[in-house]
Amino acid sequence: MGFIRVLSELVVNKIAAGEVVERPASVVKELLDNALDAGAVSVSVAVSHGGKSLMRVSDDGCGMDEDDARACLVRHATSKISSLEDIESIATMGFRGEALASIAAVSRLTITTRCPESDTAVIVQAAGGEVARISQGVHAPGTTIEVEDLFFNTPARRRFLKSDQAEYGAIAEMFSTLALARPDIGFVLHRGETVAADYPACKSQRKRMVQVLGGEFVDHVHDFALESEGFTAQGFLGAPDFTRVNRTGQKIFINGRPVFSPVINNALSRAYDEFLPARRFPVAVLFLQIAPECVDVNVHPAKREVRIRNERAFVDRLTGAMRASLRARGFFMQPDAEPRLETPAVLRAAEPRASFSAGRTDEGSWRAPFESRCVDTALFDDRRDIARGHAPAPQEMLAADNGPGLPFGMTRILGQLHACFLVAEAGDGLFLVDQHAAHERVVYEELLAGRPRGTAPVQQLLFPAILHLGEQGAAVLQEHSGHLEAMGFGLNDLGAGSFSIDAVPACLIDCDAAGLLTDCVHELCERGRQQSFDTHEQELAAALACKTRTVKAGRTLDAAEQEHLVRRLAACANPHTCPHGRPTFIRISRAEIEKRFMRT
Ligand code: ADP
Ligand code: MG
Repeated sequence: MGFIRVLSELVVNKIAAGEVVERPASVVKELLDNALDAGAVSVSVAVSHGGKSLMRVSDDGCGMDEDDARACLVRHATSKISSLEDIESIATMGFRGEALASIAAVSRLTITTRCPESDTAVIVQAAGGEVARISQGVHAPGTTIEVEDLFFNTPARRRFLKSDQAEYGAIAEMFSTLALARPDIGFVLHRGETVAADYPACKSQRKRMVQVLGGEFVDHVHDFALESEGFTAQGFLGAPDFTRVNRTGQKIFINGRPVFSPVINNALSRAYDEFLPARRFPVAVLFLQIAPECVDVNVHPAKREVRIRNERAFVDRLTGAMRASLRARGFFMQPDAEPRLETPAVLRAAEPRASFSAGRTDEGSWRAPFESRCVDTALFDDRRDIARGHAPAPQEMLAADNGPGLPFGMTRILGQLHACFLVAEAGDGLFLVDQHAAHERVVYEELLAGRPRGTAPVQQLLFPAILHLGEQGAAVLQEHSGHLEAMGFGLNDLGAGSFSIDAVPACLIDCDAAGLLTDCVHELCERGRQQSFDTHEQELAAALACKTRTVKAGRTLDAAEQEHLVRRLAACANPHTCPHGRPTFIRISRAEIEKRFMRT
């Protein structure tokens, strides 16, 4: 007797579900794809508990008759293709006929659907992939699919889901991305009882971008179009002053499908190479139309990845055209390798900071002329207050030092090396301090000082700074808002993915608060908790400390600032490493130096 057995359809569906249904956001994506394929003019999504308890997608599309409503839960049942050749010229979002079967296999699913020719709706209820009941009901022409208790019969997968807020964030991101590609369709998202997003149908791509990504985003992008052999590209490229810490601001669509494409991400990085500092990523929304025979969408069950024929030539042409478009807009690099945009508007915006900075050491920050104007003005005015004696100067706040005499056995700070390291003399050798790592450690411990709630030293901003984060970013910020408030941030949720900041922790007084929080949120959007931190709070503090950039490498520090930094570092519980474990300073003994000169 052989050992090989053919698996039952239920088991096969459960296994396949693992590929299509990774998390609630993948369910929402598949259901929205189906609604779009059904020719809907408006779609509405409702989710509860991050989609874990309920996801409901309603459309006003073509609906299904009773036969189709029964058939659609069968694996590989589709109305969209009938032969292999059809895949070559696929025009719909779906075609594999496995999404509904996969979702049904791992949830309790109810389909209520009515085609325009029928007076009544059909209701199909299934649990764990098995149809439990079929009945008649009432529904406007179109379809509503409800998915309840996702992974109720695969507890291991359920345990792997993230918090409700994180799962909701992923759903919101998916929802917004799909909405971006179809301005002609109205999209509404309900989160529990509230309407989280409402994008009425509109005529232009730009209008939809304003709805989804906000006016600030649209103000910082310019149109891009390319017609080339075998493909066209159309979309929006961000200005080099409007970057992110990662690629979360890059939305790429191929033939109407949102795709994850390292190849195109890389083309963007290459196109911006000469305009951006290291470790910053451009934002872009790109719609590519590629001749169906030149692209294979059938690589991944979720159709997230695509394969492009003649990839190299394609990428080179796209990169070249994007670079040319940026150059044509007048973006160029300064001799100090830092990009500047020479337009009167931007130069004007830079003025208050320039006059304020007069007489101070140059920060050398390439972002200076572009930094969030709102925050700059706020800090500017705060600083004037400080100058008038209303508040302690940031230097004083940083200088919670421990009396005369330098710490660590240093006798004298000799100065700065490469605007990056501090060099200090010690009785029996010398110290090299990495100024950025040291500052990171100082800010990290300051933020985590564990003061009772509401007692962290804060600096009120006279004019609140405004953050536009979108739905996903907002969910991430809400998840961390308790910790941020304990650290001293004053946050107000303005709705529609925007927040205002009216206070910052005292140790962050010198920084662009809106830019800092935006960078942190984007970083947290992209990854789960890092293993190296025990708590969310520590991870958050490390991300904030790393991104403050006030004492980053490359900034010239005057003698007083150098001394303050060293003293603050000495006051830390662990002055030896930055929060990520890199050393903050090294000591070279006199014996070592003498050995190198062969004096011993
Ligand atoms: P695919 O989209 O790849 O065909 P699905 O499992 O997602 O596979 O859907 C199976 C079939 O169910 C579709 O081909 C379509 O005929 C039908 N269907 C699913 N959702 C809807 C909907 N919202 N409106 C009308 N028909 C639908
Ligand atoms: Mg589908």
